[in-house]
Amino acid sequence: MAARTRFAPSPTGDLHLGGAWTALASWVVARVTEGGRCALRIEDLDRPRVVPGAQARIEEDLLWLGLAWDEGPMLQSERGELYEASIARLAQQGLVYPCDCSRAEIARVASAPHAGEDVVYPGFCRDRDPARPMRRPPALRARLPDETVEYEDGAAGRVVQSLAREAGDFVLRRGDGVFAYQLAVVVDDVAQGITDVVRGADLLASTGRQMWLARALGAAPPRYTHVPLVVGPEGARLEKRMRGVSVRELREAGLSPARVVGALAHGLGLVQADRPLTATQVVRACAGRPFVWARSGWSVPREW
Ligand code: GLU
Repeated sequence: MAARTRFAPSPTGDLHLGGAWTALASWVVARVTEGGRCALRIEDLDRPRVVPGAQARIEEDLLWLGLAWDEGPMLQSERGELYEASIARLAQQGLVYPCDCSRAEIARVASAPHAGEDVVYPGFCRDRDPARPMRRPPALRARLPDETVEYEDGAAGRVVQSLAREAGDFVLRRGDGVFAYQLAVVVDDVAQGITDVVRGADLLASTGRQMWLARALGAAPPRYTHVPLVVGPEGARLEKRMRGVSVRELREAGLSPARVVGALAHGLGLVQADRPLTATQVVRACAGRPFVWARSGWSVPREW
């Protein structure tokens, strides 16, 4: 069956190797199927963080890598009406409530999150008296049931997440009117008919709530594959400022796209040897067999 995937960068800077890594993985998962398509979606909802020109530079770098998209670019900043309509649909089911808690109020009570996890909202406003005036423009939160979501991840295996304990009543629209990533990503995945979400393991914790949200919007959730992360040389956390980490920098240093793509494909576990390959050659190497993703992250080679 034709797979539909997407690559969804935030235009907050140049494409870094972590982005190229998930772009390649998404592209291969789509292209390995007959008629498969990979869409480009720009996650530009948080306007102050958007860097002018970053989208064009990301697009250039993707094309340089040979990762031409089949649809898009689709800009989230132009889809407000669709997000609003989705919130209305959730509200009709009693799944939305306003919340005027400040970050500080929540942090004081909520247990400290583990690295990469969001604070679980303690639910202060869940059953608020509607007569009580709002102290500030409220955020809108999803009212999550106390359920467990289970699924088989394409790379991470069996995943079991408690919605109440691990996600909590997450924000759909911030008090300043900005739609939250968690809402927009699900609305778009559903609207674009995405069959396979392929992304970094840093987003694994979001999956349970995203599957719940897709179902609440009347859709079957996509399949999820969370690939291990790229780390900097010698296992350090990948920092944008690190040398050899942006695709642009590697280009300017004279590396060929095939050198970069081949190394990423090898790191992902898609090919046996680290040798120069075009993205299309990676697809050919993956055809006709199930994906076996790398079990652990990949370090940017020191010589880059
Ligand atoms: N924009 C997110 C990122 O750059 C990707 C979100 C997703 O794939 O769901 O990490």
